[in-house]
Amino acid sequence: MSQEFEAVIGMEVHVESKTQSKMFCSCKNDLGLETIPNTNICPICTAQPGTLPVPNREALVKLARFGKALECSIADYTWFERKSYFYPDLPKGYQITQYERPLCYGGRLEIQTAERQKNIRITRIHMEEDTGKLSHTAGTTKSLVDYNRAGIPLMELVTEPDIRTAEEARTFCEELQMILRYLDISDADMERGQMRCEVNISLRPKGTESFGTKVEIKNLNSFRAVENCITYEILRQTQVIQSGESVIQETRGWDDVKGKTFAQRKKENAHDYRYFIEPDIPPFETSEIQAEASQGISELPLAKRKRFMEEYGLTEQQVYALVREKAVAHYYEATLSELLEWYRSKNPEIFEPAIDSGYRKLRKLTTNYLLTELLRLFADKNISFETPSITAENYAEFITIVGSGEISSSAAQTVLATMVETGGDPSEIIDSQGLRQVNDTDALLKVVQDVISQNFEVVENYRGGNLNAIQFLVGQVMKQTKGSANPQIARQILEDALQSNE
Ligand code: ADP
Ligand code: ZN
Ligand code: MG
Repeated sequence: MSQEFEAVIGMEVHVESKTQSKMFCSCKNDLGLETIPNTNICPICTAQPGTLPVPNREALVKLARFGKALECSIADYTWFERKSYFYPDLPKGYQITQYERPLCYGGRLEIQTAERQKNIRITRIHMEEDTGKLSHTAGTTKSLVDYNRAGIPLMELVTEPDIRTAEEARTFCEELQMILRYLDISDADMERGQMRCEVNISLRPKGTESFGTKVEIKNLNSFRAVENCITYEILRQTQVIQSGESVIQETRGWDDVKGKTFAQRKKENAHDYRYFIEPDIPPFETSEIQAEASQGISELPLAKRKRFMEEYGLTEQQVYALVREKAVAHYYEATLSELLEWYRSKNPEIFEPAIDSGYRKLRKLTTNYLLTELLRLFADKNISFETPSITAENYAEFITIVGSGEISSSAAQTVLATMVETGGDPSEIIDSQGLRQVNDTDALLKVVQDVISQNFEVVENYRGGNLNAIQFLVGQVMKQTKGSANPQIARQILEDALQSNE
């Protein structure tokens, strides 16, 4: 009988902090895509003798802010250590890091998957410096080294092995990225290596408590890779165990093309990093860092999603799309507050707009046009919601116009697209393009009469019993009014006119 297994997963995540300068020197923290190798370096980050590292306070504040957002405790007093190992991407022969007392420890992150909500415990988040980059040229015995990245502030986060599925791991990483962006701690772009996730995974028989032998998977540079490598590894380890062998503790890489993990290196006998306190940086108190960190914490994505669902009656899918980017969420709320003000001024007798059906209709239009049209239009034109080409005020005005039925829904799409392109005011665009929907029956009656007299054959056809022929006539009315006629009203008038003129 085959046994059922459960995955036990812990994550290690490295995040480059977005600061002005590097961790211990005044080199810029800016890895532009085109930067020439070894141009953003100095005697400190290349470890010249006699230089002294000075910790970057901004990086420490950002780490403390990250920790607070994840409900970590923050060490009141801490220090740096040297971690000794030799590898050419490390110019000093050791890395300055934190070992005994990480700045942040003992937190949690709440995640929500399709199945459930759960907390993933955060073991620690510490401060360290990034290494340089080696490039190995195929077909030669040479390797090149670029120290531009050496000394970039790096945060290392470690979780408890609380994750059980590929989906949970992916959700965890996505939620982390959102938080990092919300708090402006890092751009956390995985493709650019600003956020690097490593998966530790073992299996155990379902229902048992103790842990099996774990495998560590590296070089995952997308959320999909995180998810897929776990799915693959669960299968692989299950087969190993079921064939009577045992899982070997090792580091594996991920081949995105083949969709497989592959053995990289066996776990050597525990490394001897010979950690000791960094003698060039005095241990330090963190009260001021903590105070500054607290100031920069705004509403986090999860809290915002919950609030949006409650306050605006949105579905889970809608809130994810609205809250993923802070600027989009902000734009949405700015539009709603413009609308509320406008609605209150028009309806002074309304006591509570949030439960008023007229206002709720406008809110629904705001949500729908943002999610179905605006996100796509902005993305097509590469426009960020941080610098939107349509102000929230103009978007709100557009919504009031759509809500009043002054323009048809096809005209609405044209207007919105023009607004995105020109940044123009909706009323002006509607007037200049003659898009205002004609609801006026007298005006439409004239057009209808023209259309009837110009389409004798179609009219005969309709009267002969082909009721579908009216579609063509409605189309003609729409054409003559450049799409500004209200099609329902036009149809009604046509029907009346065709019957009475018999
Ligand atoms: P190591 O000493 O090998 O680096 P750690 O104890 O530091 O291991 O844990 C590294 C990561 O692996 C953590 O995220 C932890 O939660 C996770 N982990 C530890 N043991 C296991 C296990 N048996 N199965 C899966 N994950 C594990
Ligand atoms: Zn430097
Ligand atoms: Mg470890």
